[in-house]
Amino acid sequence: MRFFSTKNRSHKVSFKEAIFNSLPPDNGLYYPETIPSLNSEFLSGLRSRPKGEVGFEIAKHFLGNEIPELDLKRIVDETISFDFPLVRISEQIHALELYHGPTWAFKDLGARFLSRCMRHFIHEEEKNVNILVATSGDTGGAVAAGFHGVEGANVTILYPKNKVSDLQQKQLTTWGDNIAALEVDGTFDDCQRLVKTAFLDKELNTNLSLSSANSINIARLIPQMFYYFFAFQQLDDWNNVVVSVPSGNYGNLSAGLFAKKMGLPIARFIAASNSNDVVPNYLDTGKYEPKTSIETYANAMDVGAPSNFVRMLEFFDGKVENMRSLISGFSLSDPRILETMNQCHQSTGYVLDPHGAIGFQALLEKLRNDETGIFLETAHPVKFMDVVQKAVPGAPGYESKIQEMEGRESIYTPISNSFDDFKSYLLKH
Ligand SMILES: *Cc1c(COP(=O)(O)O)cnc(C)c1O
Repeated sequence: MRFFSTKNRSHKVSFKEAIFNSLPPDNGLYYPETIPSLNSEFLSGLRSRPKGEVGFEIAKHFLGNEIPELDLKRIVDETISFDFPLVRISEQIHALELYHGPTWAFKDLGARFLSRCMRHFIHEEEKNVNILVATSGDTGGAVAAGFHGVEGANVTILYPKNKVSDLQQKQLTTWGDNIAALEVDGTFDDCQRLVKTAFLDKELNTNLSLSSANSINIARLIPQMFYYFFAFQQLDDWNNVVVSVPSGNYGNLSAGLFAKKMGLPIARFIAASNSNDVVPNYLDTGKYEPKTSIETYANAMDVGAPSNFVRMLEFFDGKVENMRSLISGFSLSDPRILETMNQCHQSTGYVLDPHGAIGFQALLEKLRNDETGIFLETAHPVKFMDVVQKAVPGAPGYESKIQEMEGRESIYTPISNSFDDFKSYLLKH
């Protein structure tokens, strides 16, 4: 399989080039040349297949020609070595819990897959890479966990000062070794801009072999398809299944679209956003108007210019009416996030995190009687304890998880949001 740039279909690269380049030189995004269909036999037998086999079958279509079968099997098995339970919350609604990995958010999956694919190629070629990652909270920790101790890979994480939770900050800054954390005096959009600018900077690219681990990296989207299949494995009735995806950069939703195209019978999606509602607005008006991001309780989704939007456009041939036929928009304000978390706990006993809460509420409001709803529960509530405590009186304290992190020492470097500062840091380190 080859991958083209969304800005130039004739610029095609291998999977290896796509993951190490991260972005094509023309500043588009890599996109698979085709999205293959799984055969119907595979799908009809889906429920009884081990999840490693399901992941391998999907991954093999995209990179089977570049990573030998046994290595790819091992990469997939290591990537998914935790649970993906589908938990029934009400008659019609299920939570797909994606937070049972090492840093308690779904980003673990993409980061583990990317790091292991890179490790494979690094060993093969004895090359070194410098990985840059901008994070609004969860990506950075997942990438750090995925790459910690991987020889030949140095990771620099950029996170916005005072905009990540205490626990997230711990998960970003307590690794040491080949992982460095930069605390940027700015927003997530600033962090993302610094990373993007670094990739376009000639001097940096001649001196350092730069790579990125953001959700723009195509390697993140491939394993994120897996869990849509894992959800269906656990579902009795496959008719009229609606998946509600709490979204920020829209990597998760893009992966869902790919899973559907491969043959998974998802009826439709809901793009569930916080007050950063650029995509729901696009679905309403047909106009794409990126904005400066607004801070919300669901901070991992505080994105004003979603990076995967161009992949969604590619998927739908640039036509808003095509997108509307599969995706409806939904947005939830901060006060309503608290209300949803509170009411869900009162009526079902289930503790939502603020991101999952948006996905859940979208289903409550948009699901029709003949449909089954799944929302992605993208992070463990303990990662957003301050919000949980505000919303849910008597919520569990998750003491053991908190103790696990408290003993660790934070080490980070503060920098401004100017590219020159970032550049000189990179050249010095
Ligand atoms: C990253 C993240 C999201 C948003 O996912 P995208 O793929 O960027 O749309 C939602 N919830 C949590 C907890 C996240 O960490």
